[in-house]
Amino acid sequence: MTDFSAVSPQRLVVFLTELGRCATSAELVRQAAELVAEEFDAEVGLVMSSDGVLAGVGFGSADLPTDLLQSIPSGVALVSIPGIGRCHTMTAACAAFPSGRIVAGRVSARYTSSDRDLLLGMAGVLDLATRSIRALERERARHRALEILLALQRSISHRAPLAKILASVTEGASSVMRGCPVALVLDDALDPTRPVHVGAAVETLVDPVSIPVHVQGVTAGHLLAGSQDGTPLGEEDRALLSTFAEHASLALTDARTVEAMKEAFHDPLTGLPNRPLFLDRLKAALDKRDPNPLAVLFVDLDRFKDVNDTMGHAAGDELLLQVAERIRATTRTESSAARFGGDEFALVVEYGSEPGIVLQVAERVIAAVAKPFTVRGKTVLIGATVGIAFSGHGRDASELLADADLAMYRAKRAGGGRSATFESKMRDELTSRLGLASDLTGALSRDELSVEFQPIFDLTTGRPIAVEALLRWHHPVRGIVAPSELIPIAESTGLIVPVGRWVLEQACHWASRWRESLPDLKVSVNASVHQLREPGFAEDVVAAITRAGLPPLALIMEVTESALIADHDGTIETLEKLEKAGITIALDDFGTGYSALSYLHKLPLDILKIDRSFVSGGQGEQGDQLVRTIIDLGKVYGLEVVAEGIEDEAQLQRLIQAGCTLGQGYFLSRPAIPEGLIEKLEHLDQGHEVLTELESHVGQPRGGFGSTIDEAAWEERPGY
Ligand code: C2E
Ligand code: MG
Ligand code: MG
Repeated sequence: MTDFSAVSPQRLVVFLTELGRCATSAELVRQAAELVAEEFDAEVGLVMSSDGVLAGVGFGSADLPTDLLQSIPSGVALVSIPGIGRCHTMTAACAAFPSGRIVAGRVSARYTSSDRDLLLGMAGVLDLATRSIRALERERARHRALEILLALQRSISHRAPLAKILASVTEGASSVMRGCPVALVLDDALDPTRPVHVGAAVETLVDPVSIPVHVQGVTAGHLLAGSQDGTPLGEEDRALLSTFAEHASLALTDARTVEAMKEAFHDPLTGLPNRPLFLDRLKAALDKRDPNPLAVLFVDLDRFKDVNDTMGHAAGDELLLQVAERIRATTRTESSAARFGGDEFALVVEYGSEPGIVLQVAERVIAAVAKPFTVRGKTVLIGATVGIAFSGHGRDASELLADADLAMYRAKRAGGGRSATFESKMRDELTSRLGLASDLTGALSRDELSVEFQPIFDLTTGRPIAVEALLRWHHPVRGIVAPSELIPIAESTGLIVPVGRWVLEQACHWASRWRESLPDLKVSVNASVHQLREPGFAEDVVAAITRAGLPPLALIMEVTESALIADHDGTIETLEKLEKAGITIALDDFGTGYSALSYLHKLPLDILKIDRSFVSGGQGEQGDQLVRTIIDLGKVYGLEVVAEGIEDEAQLQRLIQAGCTLGQGYFLSRPAIPEGLIEKLEHLDQGHEVLTELESHVGQPRGGFGSTIDEAAWEERPGY
């Protein structure tokens, strides 16, 4: 112990006070070197240990002449220091560091004996201050580690999701180890070539320290830490890492079986990696030092929900298993597949120098899923829509996935069963769609909505028998927004309910006026499944026609197949109520959905509207055969059949020859605003204009057309 009695205690108290302000040991030695130089009016102040110069003042930005400084003898001496000159040096040992010393060096004058005593005193004070700050630092780190470990123990005992606990193990270890990168690698029982991986990318770790992790006593993987700034990890770090590895073992053992581990990162149904694992692998692939160019494929099944709704969830699961198998089979080693739940799958494809591979994989997936499946002895046809996003442009894993999702949405909207590649303008479209949704909120009150009417004709007489009400939105900036864009927005925001009610009112209002001169004219109104689900919908419809003074048979409600697929939300009951009230029900866009022929007759239906994709003739002989099948079907079940979207004379003739008696389409009449429509309808009702030629076709023999229902042709509908 140094004897401070010979030294002015005041100076030492000042020294101690100054050092006491320092928060870390690094700051402390720097401050000590400065105070030594200041106290003795010295050019040089140093704190040194066997490790080298811990802090030195007096050298500006020049490199420290470390070797020379280390060779300064103890006691007092005269040393030539480059850049400063001949210096009187004075050295005092400091026990805080191995071979610790503090040194003052000045050019001007020798030191007195009280100078030497003061320096000895300062060395003692520095020793004291260093010990206490170290104790404090250790205490702080221990406290922090303790806090993190306690939180970890809490989440283990609360059985937090395993994936989350394991992520906190790597994050916690890293934070108590001064931010050193930490990774947890667990052997994957399912796929030994691809270990489950949490935290930092293993290949980026420098000089890693590795501690085994156990599940029920058996090594199941390793917790690894790399050094942060080149300084190798010491014993203390290893001890900390071991504690965290023990916690990982505890959590894994607590999850008891490797099964649970698999569950944390795999979809339990298909065994494919789940979203967290997929994202993690994607992140690792993107973070590689020299990443391979890659693409993310987001796969969404078409019409899966219909299967689930009609055949039940167990059958849906069976189908998903088969789909997963086919998707897995389309990928090579460089791709990896995942299931995100529901009917969503994803793939990563590393394509090296051949981006064309990506589209090929997408095509393979689409083709594989389009082939018929057999579920519980029944043939099931579904499809797949794929969104593709290529890496690059600084997109991270989750952004890339969101881009692929957006591209998938786009491909879905274009009809599904195809792929689309992400383009940045899709993001703008998303923004604009969100904007439209908020604009639509006020559209009714701002008088931007209107209704057009398109006549439906009796093809045998050429007379209009009904008009279909079609919604229009005149957006103040965008102009006319097509129903194909507008209706999904209205449905997703719930605005379809008030908007639909308004369309119905308009339709009833105009129909009651037109029926003054054309008393048999009916009005056809489209109803979304969202409206049918609204409690009291049937009663509202009846009230609306009553208010307008219309008889129920003047109204046709058009619904789509999706409304009929699932009865669990009471839509069929609503339709039955409407039918009981005397309202006619039409099934719109027939042939595009999943309706099984066998249950059509069980539904409250009066009319089938053949979707225009079958009327256009674009599907060749197969399409024609389907049209004939639908017409025959109508006869068997006592349903009227309307052909939609007749665009030219050839189509019209084919339909008439197939025995179709009702039709609608641009060739006959386009949708028109209600004002002035009655004059046109009256004119048409005279049998003039549109169909002068029709009579010549009516009654012709249906040469070569079969009249039995070809169920096989039906089940193989194109695009089905
Ligand atoms: P939809 O009910 O099948 O109506 C027929 C659609 O085909 C209308 O499109 C009509 O303009 C169009 N169309 C008619 N003839 C032809 C033709 O010869 N060629 C072609 N290419 N198209 C023809 P629009 O008005 O764009 O409506 C699209 C869909 O939006 C409708 O299909 C219907 O599902 C829905 N929609 C329209 N208005 C409403 C509404 O008030 N409520 C609900 N829920 N849906 C509506
Ligand atoms: Mg319709
Ligand atoms: Mg339609």
